[in-house]
Amino acid sequence: MRECVADKEEDMESRAATSGGLSSRSQGPVDGPRADAELLSVRNLKIVYGNSIEAVRDVSLSVGQGQIVALLGANGAGKSTILKAISGVLYTEDGELENGSISFAGANLKGWSPDRIVAAGVVQVPEGRRLFAPLTVRENLVMGGHLVNGAELKRRMDMVFDLFAPLRDKQERISGYLSGGEQQMVAIGRALISGPKVLCLDEPSLGLAPQIIDEIFKVLHRLKDEIRTSILIVEQNAHRALALSDYAYIMENGRVVMDGLAADLAQNRDVKEFYLGMGEASEGKSMRDVKHYKRRKRWLS
Ligand code: ATP
Repeated sequence: MRECVADKEEDMESRAATSGGLSSRSQGPVDGPRADAELLSVRNLKIVYGNSIEAVRDVSLSVGQGQIVALLGANGAGKSTILKAISGVLYTEDGELENGSISFAGANLKGWSPDRIVAAGVVQVPEGRRLFAPLTVRENLVMGGHLVNGAELKRRMDMVFDLFAPLRDKQERISGYLSGGEQQMVAIGRALISGPKVLCLDEPSLGLAPQIIDEIFKVLHRLKDEIRTSILIVEQNAHRALALSDYAYIMENGRVVMDGLAADLAQNRDVKEFYLGMGEASEGKSMRDVKHYKRRKRWLS
């Protein structure tokens, strides 16, 4: 009975969220700030590894045209698994999309090969960069442009060197010998050269020094403001991710436990406490505890 009343209240919350507020659970296809131009949408995903480990349960999210969406959450929450499902590479890790749908620009991506998904415009920069280490910077970048002709490739290479100036003079360097920050620049540059309609970034700041993270995020802000690239970003650094993004989803244990406008989430007391390190000690608690506590509180009041 309590759950019932609380659920009704939650439904009202969800409806309120369509006008830009916060929601404590995943939204349906018509939600989010720019649903009118929805580009990428995943619905009710259930993903299992090795027939036994349920990594993602009933997750729905969407990215609108030109929108930046952050996927936040602790280690093991299921964020990378969602990106792998979108990119069609789950099978390489014995993962399977057991339920749900992934659609991009109206096409259902289920069963598509990774290269077909890239050609369609959904391009991932995986965690850990995954460059071809023995190849030069230029060769790695050219890999991203194998589907375009010479003049267009040159235009895109110039765009990457404009965004990542340090790479211009290092085109003939062996990628494996670059610093972590430079390698991340090459990885993002290679993805950009393929002309993504949605860029999926998995932990672009992982393992980098603060100054380098600044540089990477400066470029991401330029992609947002000047090029209007649609981006889905998985990031541990919630501060920076929320400052960059329009909308954000927070995951725990394979589920979305909260979503809303990034600017609102950045001000939310619970998010500040759990993800931005600005509240009282939150050890041993989770966002789900907060949600249930709030449900009880509403019921009792
Ligand atoms: P992180 O930031 O640590 O990568 P994440 O939120 O991206 O965390 P995932 O990597 O998606 O989390 O992992 C979600 C769950 O799936 C975890 O419990 C993880 O142990 C499990 N998992 C991930 N990859 C595999 C795999 N290849 N085989 C089995 N289980 C996996």
